Amino acid sequence: MNLFALLDQAAARFGDRGAVYCGERQASTWGELRERSLRLAGSLRAVPGTRIAVASENRPEIVELMFGIWAAECVYVPINYKLHPREMTDVLADSGATQVFASPKIAAQLDVEVPVETIGTESYAQRCRADPVGAPDTDPAALAWLFYTSGTTGRSKGAMLSHRNLMAMTVAHLADFDAPDEDSSLIHGAPMSHGSGLYIPPYVLRGARQVIPESGAFDAEEFLDLCEHHPGCSAFLAPTMVARLVATGRPRPRHLRTVVYGGGPMYVDSLKKAMAAFGPVFVQLYGQGEAPMTITGLRRADHLSAGSPADDAILGSVGYARSGVDVAVVREDGTPAPAGEIGEIVCRGDVVMSGYWNNPEATAATLQGGWLHTGDMGSFDERGYLTLRDRSKDVVISGGSNIYPREVEEVLVEHPGVIEACVVGARDEEWGEIVVAFVVGTAEPADLDAHLLTRIARFKRPKRYEFIDELPKNSYGKVLKRALRDRLAR
Ligand code: AMP
Repeated sequence: MNLFALLDQAAARFGDRGAVYCGERQASTWGELRERSLRLAGSLRAVPGTRIAVASENRPEIVELMFGIWAAECVYVPINYKLHPREMTDVLADSGATQVFASPKIAAQLDVEVPVETIGTESYAQRCRADPVGAPDTDPAALAWLFYTSGTTGRSKGAMLSHRNLMAMTVAHLADFDAPDEDSSLIHGAPMSHGSGLYIPPYVLRGARQVIPESGAFDAEEFLDLCEHHPGCSAFLAPTMVARLVATGRPRPRHLRTVVYGGGPMYVDSLKKAMAAFGPVFVQLYGQGEAPMTITGLRRADHLSAGSPADDAILGSVGYARSGVDVAVVREDGTPAPAGEIGEIVCRGDVVMSGYWNNPEATAATLQGGWLHTGDMGSFDERGYLTLRDRSKDVVISGGSNIYPREVEEVLVEHPGVIEACVVGARDEEWGEIVVAFVVGTAEPADLDAHLLTRIARFKRPKRYEFIDELPKNSYGKVLKRALRDRLAR
């Protein structure tokens, strides 16, 4: 089984209907999409298992590249377009990709030895006219996607996702969350290299339109306009994006049907505002790259009780186990924690990755006894709802993007005017969380900004600097992050 079979089925059933749209304009039918993907696969001339990277803002071609790479039995390696070129180079090196497809903007910034094909050029168009490969027949355990997460030590880890993992994700999505058909649309508001891209397979299987906003990014007005135009609209959005939709003050668009939110905390207050603005269209997912989009969730109906918003304990939770996934909360000794007790969230099922690419130590630490250790802390209540309590990895989730404090701290302390630095997340209405840097030293915020800009992605820069005389530390000399967070909450 190869995920290309999903496109094969859609093309057989809906060949002449619109498949991919750029804004309101139809870019291809299902028949054309299948043909272009098979020809792109032919142009790769790659042996099965070869990693092929795609680094681009949201663009219509991403869909044909994803299925073309699968048709060639190669591994799809999307790279977050917001990364610094230096970070992209690290991902390329780690994955061992032998070919990159990049948008014109990113291609101009990349300075790598791996061949770079610029999407949208005549040379790219020629690939779509190459001799096609036949439909593939692949071992379902074969790698389909290397999903790169940020590493706490600065080194990105590639979660290895097989065709079977992504098929389990597809089936769970269709079972739990949404029932699209050929009169439905998936609007790509969030980055297709991550959450939004993972949703392509279930919607392709049902022949639902793939709609890529013309701006290639998230613009609340444009998103709502597209939900007035296309039929039966669904989307995956980070909580920040949902807040932006609410901030427009516009009513629910005619065709908005499902908004799946997740990837970072959604505060109860923000969720109630969103439900008041757009009605009961919301679905919550809790997942991570290692178990793509699929650990627990709250269905549309779970958000309601007798027509009103459900109680705060439910709305503040991440719901219950998804179809086909076992979820447990365990103590440090690995025994199950009873309801009400906080422990580490673990899960198992066909959706869970087989490990991290080229990183046996991290794999051994994360996959133990068949269970994925998420690094998230939480507790079940008596009703079986799971609530996240803390993130043991201290990750800051700002606007749906994960930012690892250690990575920012390491770069900050490289600056001559910084003696010590500690980065924490602070609660923020708009972004969910923002990055705040506590700095001991004489550097000016503008100097630090300039320093960071040349080294890491823009979105990881602190939105606020606090200069202090010394960092609070415990007797082992470890910085007390909690004390710093408390300071911000005061
Ligand atoms: P990523 O692998 O980049 O998708 O990040 C996954 C992490 O995001 C999880 O381990 C959680 O810490 C966090 N996360 C995902 N979904 C939710 C959610 N619904 N609520 C709060 N945090 C979430």
